[in-house]
Amino acid sequence: MTDTKICSWCLEEKPISEFGRRPDRGLRSVRSHCYVCSRAQSRAAYRKDIAVSRARNAAAWQTRRASGLLRCARHRAKKSGISCTITELWVQQRLDAGVCEKTGIRFVLDKLRHQFSPSLDKINPKIGYTPENTRMVIFMFNRAKSNFTDDYVEYMADSLSCRGPSPEVVGDSKWAAVYGL
Ligand SMILES: [Zn+2]
Repeated sequence: MTDTKICSWCLEEKPISEFGRRPDRGLRSVRSHCYVCSRAQSRAAYRKDIAVSRARNAAAWQTRRASGLLRCARHRAKKSGISCTITELWVQQRLDAGVCEKTGIRFVLDKLRHQFSPSLDKINPKIGYTPENTRMVIFMFNRAKSNFTDDYVEYMADSLSCRGPSPEVVGDSKWAAVYGL
């Protein structure tokens, strides 16, 4: 007959082989909870750690957004051999303005990544991040523009607005939810 033990967590009676050993407490010593409970517990602890570190990173990013945006711009400029002469103060002033310089859409700042997150845009993609050639725009506009010029995005936006919004997609409640109002 197999030895059994009651798990102190799930309270099920299980064969001893389903319990971990505690060699530090003597060769035959067995843990009080079963493998299934151990695994569930460590998974929960792992998920909690991840959530905590994500929240911490988001908060840190919030206070360091200007330097973060600038660091990434400098990195991209170096990679493509163009200049980056904007300063952290320059970036911070545009963040403080709170709205996209191209669309006028208000930035979403309480999330790490969002379609309406602020993003540094080179007006002429071939020129570097100089004060004259750089704007703070929403991430979504920057993505749509990519290596093209404003005319393309404007043409697309005009075409979209001529079609008219679908009422079931664009309602006040949707935009209220985006801004957490
Ligand atoms: Zn158990």
